[in-house]
Amino acid sequence: MEAALKLVEPLKAPPPLEGYRVLARKYRPSQLNQVIGQDFLVETLRRGIEGGRLGHAFILTGIRGTGKTTTARIIARSLNCEKGPTPEPCGVCSSCTAIAQDRSMDVIEIDAASRTSVDDVREIIEASRYKAVSSRYKIYIIDEVHMLSKSAFNALLKTLEEPPPHVKFIFATTEIQKVPATILSRCVRFDLKRIESSTLSHYFKTICAQENVTCEDEAIALIAKAAEGSVRDGLSLLDQAITYGTSAVTAPQVRQMLGLSDQGALFDLFQTLMEGDILKSLETLRYFYQEGADPVRVLEDLLDLTHWLQCLKINPSLAQDMTLTAEKRHKGIELATSLSIPALTRLWQILLKGFEEVKRAPAPQKALEVIVIRLTHLAPLPSLHELLNGEGIDSLEKKKPYL
Ligand SMILES: [Zn+2]
Repeated sequence: MEAALKLVEPLKAPPPLEGYRVLARKYRPSQLNQVIGQDFLVETLRRGIEGGRLGHAFILTGIRGTGKTTTARIIARSLNCEKGPTPEPCGVCSSCTAIAQDRSMDVIEIDAASRTSVDDVREIIEASRYKAVSSRYKIYIIDEVHMLSKSAFNALLKTLEEPPPHVKFIFATTEIQKVPATILSRCVRFDLKRIESSTLSHYFKTICAQENVTCEDEAIALIAKAAEGSVRDGLSLLDQAITYGTSAVTAPQVRQMLGLSDQGALFDLFQTLMEGDILKSLETLRYFYQEGADPVRVLEDLLDLTHWLQCLKINPSLAQDMTLTAEKRHKGIELATSLSIPALTRLWQILLKGFEEVKRAPAPQKALEVIVIRLTHLAPLPSLHELLNGEGIDSLEKKKPYL
């Protein structure tokens, strides 16, 4: 929930000092056992490389920042290491160093986003007929492969059907559904998972230790959550937090950096909505507006909060979430206890309907205010369940609609 509470513009960190290597580059894994959060993929590849049973074409898919290109390069190193093929490339032989420095003649990286035409692919196919210059295999890494044109895919297909024995293809894509089935059926597919925030937290802690940076656990947890499963995004945020914090990285700093500082106001708004206090609710909305919050974003945050409260109601242990302050945890439990699931579901529906309205409205802020007024008025309507149980009529009399 926290990641969505971006109500104020995040602060911009100063540019890194010259000569400073960003964490994502500095800690890029060069061996399979350094890849985090992809245990299944790592194990399958390790066995395949050790047993010499790797096919001639792979496709790596997953959201951005999960390590597709990194894994592709590790596979290339593993296959071409002079001491290999091995899942633990030595890192010192001429092949390993050439790949690390992007100057290997036999590992060709192509970004399909910029080279989509059939001529580009023909060039690759033509070159693939010749043996590798100094390594075991000639390896083509094609990034964002889904961007290739239809005719380019067709040209590639012929080579994939009967590949020269010295050639390997490694494709990477964020949009696997756009890759033709004929191509997919000739590749071994690996799905890179979104990395769990607990795994990311643990990883970031080890990096902070290596960098000699003091970072509060809560701050790390916030960064891991905001990374939304991407190591690269998380490391950029950590970089930013380290540059931003002077001696140590603290949770309040990270909250400010991520634009999470108005979480308290959001809880207040929710509370006044639940109490049916129109005036106070509108006041808070205007405060958000003055702070520069996007009305659509405010609605998104309210939706997130509603969802979180529902989850909290079902599983109270969620309140242990390290990324929330003690006060919010306490308030969350209080709200979750006092609101019924039907009430929360109704709230969700009204918010969701309002979401579309606000997006289409010529004046989104006004549309948001109308939705808030509607929320406080529609609130007393009893659910079907309550009506059937004879509880609905009573609840209509109550002043506080939800509570
Ligand atoms: Zn090597």
